[in-house]
Amino acid sequence: MEQVLLLNITYEPLRIINWKRAITLLTLGKVEVLEQYDREVHSVSFSIRLPSVVRLLRFVKKPKFPVKFSRQNIYIRDNYRCQYCGRELPPDKLTWDHVMPKARGGKTEWENIVTCCMECNRKKGGKMPSEASMKLIGKPCIPEWLPALKITLGLRVMPKSWRDYLYWNIELEG
Ligand SMILES: [Zn+2]
Repeated sequence: MEQVLLLNITYEPLRIINWKRAITLLTLGKVEVLEQYDREVHSVSFSIRLPSVVRLLRFVKKPKFPVKFSRQNIYIRDNYRCQYCGRELPPDKLTWDHVMPKARGGKTEWENIVTCCMECNRKKGGKMPSEASMKLIGKPCIPEWLPALKITLGLRVMPKSWRDYLYWNIELEG
């Protein structure tokens, strides 16, 4: 299904939403459409070309929607880097690791899960990092928002119409 890039009023990319959510925001008058897909959706009362980029008409300070806790988003948060040896690897060479092992009460949540390569995962096994003489390169935290560059990394194919908006933001960050 088509995904829609949601921008803040400042044109800063905020997140990816599905097209139904985008249409809802549009009918509520909360967003304006900047780019569209070729495809149309029809209902009894209207037909509309699917938006591909929408912009909020009011400034949003804090994310209203938390970043979903998923394997992919953990990799994105950690920049596809094993949090023990620091190697950057493709997703199929990565797994996730409970810093405090499950058997010791470690929870499956943002602060206890890190991206890990297969080798480090085997080495660490059911131990605490210190017991395995391993050290985390960073403290895992709850991500507030996925920056634009990370949004694009998380997508297999980025719609062409998103490009201008994402580059705009990347250049500013750089
Ligand atoms: Zn590793």
